Amino acid sequence: MGAERIKLTVPSVNNDLYRELVYKKSIYKEPSPFFDRENPFESMVEQFDTAARLLNLEHGFYEFLCTPSRIHITAIPIRMDDGRIEVFEGVRVIHNEVLGPSKGGIRFAPDVDLEEVKALAAWMTWKCAVIGVPFGGAKGAVRCNPRELSPQELEKITRRYTANMINVFGPDCDIPAPDMNTNEQIMAWIVDTYSMHAGRTETAVVTGKPIILGGSQGRVGATGRGVMVVATAALERLGLDPSECSVAIQGFGNVGSVAAQLLSERGCRIKAVSDVSGGYYKEGGLDIEEMIAYTREHDNSLAGYPNAEPIDNESLLVSDVDLLVPAAKEHQITSRNAENIRAKVIVEGANGPTTPSADKILKEKGVLVVPDILANAGGVTVSYFEWVQDRQGYFWPLERVNRRLGAMMRAAFDNVYEAAQKYDVSMRIGAYVIAVDKVASALRIRGIWP
Ligand code: NAD
Repeated sequence: MGAERIKLTVPSVNNDLYRELVYKKSIYKEPSPFFDRENPFESMVEQFDTAARLLNLEHGFYEFLCTPSRIHITAIPIRMDDGRIEVFEGVRVIHNEVLGPSKGGIRFAPDVDLEEVKALAAWMTWKCAVIGVPFGGAKGAVRCNPRELSPQELEKITRRYTANMINVFGPDCDIPAPDMNTNEQIMAWIVDTYSMHAGRTETAVVTGKPIILGGSQGRVGATGRGVMVVATAALERLGLDPSECSVAIQGFGNVGSVAAQLLSERGCRIKAVSDVSGGYYKEGGLDIEEMIAYTREHDNSLAGYPNAEPIDNESLLVSDVDLLVPAAKEHQITSRNAENIRAKVIVEGANGPTTPSADKILKEKGVLVVPDILANAGGVTVSYFEWVQDRQGYFWPLERVNRRLGAMMRAAFDNVYEAAQKYDVSMRIGAYVIAVDKVASALRIRGIWP
């Protein structure tokens, strides 16, 4: 009887389970399909490299700034609802802390891998530097499929991950936020778990919290609002009147729907939008308010929306519009479709929607691409406002949040545009030049310890 029990609970003799543990579940393996099998960290280094050369960055600084400062990997054992114990892997990558405490979201996904998290952490460093918030960059992940987890299992994973990172997270050292498949509720569990360990309530340990728990007004719509601000600025730089421009938006979630609503309020004609259910087109302009109301009544989906013509995702990307906003996921504009893009301006609401090879084609075609590290920085900007408000215990009205967000996004856009002109490079490289220069200058003044 006893021997039987031991046999059942020693899984390493089971080849299938061994393979699953070592090859399928490991955060070290299987580059995420989101990145089209390209190594995202290498893409980041390629962009960094161009900026570093323009700045004549000294070799040691080069190496320091593209190496993650710390990587924490942890096992998260959870007793599942059916009584089994399952062990998940969690990671937190701190890329750089030269400008301040590190900042970055936590994603829960079954196929997340370390190279992806390293790249996302580095992009946070550059994003914070470009927009001018006093943070370094970080990113975290737990390799799990939230769709297969009960709310209780999700809560246990969140709390155990937080407990294992108790010496990593903190309002003065590393401040997480929501990312793919994580939300306000998960941030609330992190606040609670962290506070229970600290012996006091510490709301500033994460951002993107519910308002009742120290969240900020305007945080939910901040990224879409930032996209609208830089899109308007980009159109104006090209001498186009936004109220006479047409727009296509890929993705109708948090970023895409808010950007669509605010751009249409500024008079833009939104000719096409899409979500995972497909694309929706109307030459004379879609009724965005109606579409948002439709998604609210239909489980956040546009499926079956009646007042538009259906189009597929590829057609949306190459539709005849002035402005294209990819706001869904990574690697949508590639060397396969970049040549056919007709938009004059692309504003990257999503992270990494354009591959490096597509970027080169768009530059040759003269398309103005406002890069993700600038275009979607509205979220981290209001996260910074949230952290400031929590630390002061004094909360701002929505109007103040939106006004300050608009001013910071506009100033960052102008800086990047001018850097791109000065060095005769794309706005992406211009943004990197500003970010890398800022972090390198701070590092030079701080010095290398000891
Ligand atoms: P979300 O989950 O709210 O929305 C994603 C949208 O994309 C949904 O409408 C979904 O149906 C759609 N979509 C998914 N696959 C698609 C496909 N193949 N074709 C067309 N549409 C598709 O996510 P979000 O918060 O809006 O984030 C979108 C992007 O913006 C992500 O890349 C995210 O990393 C980035 N981003 C978000 C924030 C933020 O504050 N929410 C901040 C910075 C960057």
